[in-house]
Amino acid sequence: MKFRNFPMVPRVLFGRNSFDQVGELLMPLRRNSEAPYIFLVDDVFQDRPEVTSRIPVMFEDRIIFISADEEPKTAQVDALVAMIKTAFDEMPSGVIGIGGGTVMDLAKAVSLLLTNPGSAQDYQGWDLVKNKAVYHVGIPSISGTGAEVSRTTVLTGPEKKLGINSDFTPFDQVVLDPAMTGGVPKDQWFFTGMDCFIHCVESLEGYFLNTFSQSYGEKAYELCCEVFTSDELGLEERQNKLMMASWHGGMSIAYSQVGIAHALSYGLSYELGIRHGVGNCMVFDHLEKYYPKGVRKFKEMKDRHEIVLPSGVCSDLTTEQMDSMTRVALSLEPLWENALGADWKQKITEKEIHELYQKM
Ligand code: NAD
Ligand code: ZN
Repeated sequence: MKFRNFPMVPRVLFGRNSFDQVGELLMPLRRNSEAPYIFLVDDVFQDRPEVTSRIPVMFEDRIIFISADEEPKTAQVDALVAMIKTAFDEMPSGVIGIGGGTVMDLAKAVSLLLTNPGSAQDYQGWDLVKNKAVYHVGIPSISGTGAEVSRTTVLTGPEKKLGINSDFTPFDQVVLDPAMTGGVPKDQWFFTGMDCFIHCVESLEGYFLNTFSQSYGEKAYELCCEVFTSDELGLEERQNKLMMASWHGGMSIAYSQVGIAHALSYGLSYELGIRHGVGNCMVFDHLEKYYPKGVRKFKEMKDRHEIVLPSGVCSDLTTEQMDSMTRVALSLEPLWENALGADWKQKITEKEIHELYQKM
């Protein structure tokens, strides 16, 4: 058996208001005054000077506000890279992503494409990236995706929604400041938090499970249950714990894989533009056959927080659309293998996938 040698985020800062230390982290790594830091910032902060005024811009540094209304696209990465290359003679000193999974993934992808030729779509897949990325920093402002620790950046391209999975993808530095997650709307807090919960269930119930993944997955599962079912926790404690749950959930899937909810959710996202967190919830709600205990817990948390999921989104789809979603879902072979075993092709049919989609 050949074991995989995965990189991890080498440096992490944790603590409330640790965001104020970003300037001192960046200072020694600035190459020169002409080599800027590029801050990609979720545009939800555009009207929040209590955050933007603390972004440590100097010299030629640039803040670029990014809308998270749509998930990141390969074309968007290419456009940002072209814009940065045109605007500056020097390669940036670094790229800093401040936001949720959408902005963190964009920051990772832009840092990779600054040093690798061609389009982001050329690198969707596994280990296609040749050159080290520009120094990149992730500062999550909503907890759950694990994008802050992962070895991938998930992008939608012309042909597929697939990550750029590579040893060069993980951040060089992460700043975990739970106070940054203040102001997240309740539904979004639930959907992105459930992304973490679903990572745990899919990892813990999967065929690829090993002690490494299990130890992180169990901790993240426990933290999620505490955050979403306990009345004891105050707001700060909830923010702290969900941020660490996201980290551990991401670590858990690093050495295993996600499963059926993610495979089907990628189909929903590709065909209908349904975003990751809510899409996962919409799918997971119907997966009791595959993850009975996890789905029971999920429904309990959903009811407790009075979350109403969108429904009927697949009722009027054409056959072509349904086939396209199914194709995207089934193309994620490692996810199915993790969920159902090496003989997964004998255990799931296109018809069953259509039936599941029709329930949503
Ligand atoms: P998101 O980044 O799309 O943000 C969701 C919403 O929350 C947006 O409207 C955003 O503006 C808002 N928001 C973020 N922080 C806020 C704050 N502090 N206050 C108020 N509003 C705030 O959501 P997400 O669920 O974190 O990320 C989803 C994306 O992450 C998808 O594109 C998915 O593919 C990707 N993802 C990546 C990985 C990975 O390992 N790379 C893993 C899972 C998901
Ligand atoms: Zn996920």
